[in-house]
Amino acid sequence: MIVMAERLVSPAARFEDNEMEKSLRPGWLSEYIGQKKVKETIDIFIQAARNRREVLDHVLLFGPPGLGKTTLANIIANEMGANIRITSGPAIERPGDLAAILTNLSPGDVLFIDEVHRLSRTVEEVLYPAMEEFAVDIVIGKGPSARSLRLELPRFTLVGATTRAGLLTSPLRDRFGVVSRLDFYRPEELVQIVNRAACILGVEISPEGAYEIAGRSRGTPRVANRFLKRVRDYAQVRANGIITAEVAVEALQFLDVDSIGLDHTDRKILLTVIQKYGGGPVGLETLAAATSEEPETIEDLYEPYLLQLGMLSRTPRGRVATHLAYQHLGLELTWGDPRD
Ligand code: ADP
Repeated sequence: MIVMAERLVSPAARFEDNEMEKSLRPGWLSEYIGQKKVKETIDIFIQAARNRREVLDHVLLFGPPGLGKTTLANIIANEMGANIRITSGPAIERPGDLAAILTNLSPGDVLFIDEVHRLSRTVEEVLYPAMEEFAVDIVIGKGPSARSLRLELPRFTLVGATTRAGLLTSPLRDRFGVVSRLDFYRPEELVQIVNRAACILGVEISPEGAYEIAGRSRGTPRVANRFLKRVRDYAQVRANGIITAEVAVEALQFLDVDSIGLDHTDRKILLTVIQKYGGGPVGLETLAAATSEEPETIEDLYEPYLLQLGMLSRTPRGRVATHLAYQHLGLELTWGDPRD
């Protein structure tokens, strides 16, 4: 997913990430750090499919942006010795666009559809027979003389990625044989990711330096790699090029990233809930209007990490700031945790 995101901590891809991501993307399962359960599941399915000389079942990957869904799709293709075709839900506007992609696939190909929840209903309907029966039905002509023609497709694997599985229609979700959820990475896994990236980029980094970057990376490899790149620049200009703990902390402070990876927008969201709405609950739409953000942006990009940290919680009546948010912002909680 490539969107223009101004925030340095955004888990969504920024244009500056493009080239770097290609060079840092692990190509094989053995190089893919963390996500043990997902890796094991995919490994078993790949081995079984290879042994039977069949194509891999369709795979659905879900989880917040920047956690490695596109990377896994590429790995699946590599491990299966297959070609990958990459597209995304919003890019496929009409059923004919999808039919064209499908009829151009070769046997065994992996078709990766990012943001698969954003396919339109009519496009989605083309996918059903394609996934299930490896066929597309094309309607020729209009009105009473219209007739349907069935085209056989080569057997292929669809890898779908989505930030929220709940947004997928059930007929689509049911057609995936493998459904895997990616979680935020643990700090020690992010340390490995930072060290691996530093090694590829030829950056000298101390173990403590890697730890400081990892701890502020919001559980997200994309953010970790981006921070590494920015801290490297800072180290080159302000220090002797080596990323020590001190340099990492200084650089990230300079970039307005705090000790747990929050930036001014995260703090603004928490402060709005606390100061304008007495700690909550406050509805998503209201919160979005009060912070001048889009509701989807809050839900997809900002909130998942705040929820993971336990600073924000979701209740049926809206978002609530927890005592951890008060603590982190140095505010006094005078009336008890609103959830209690
Ligand atoms: P998504 O598709 O979920 O938004 P990507 O697959 O594009 O995320 O991952 C973003 C970047 O993070 C990749 O280019 C890669 O460098 C890095 N990355 C993701 N997952 C891993 C991992 N498990 N190990 C190492 N690097 C990773």
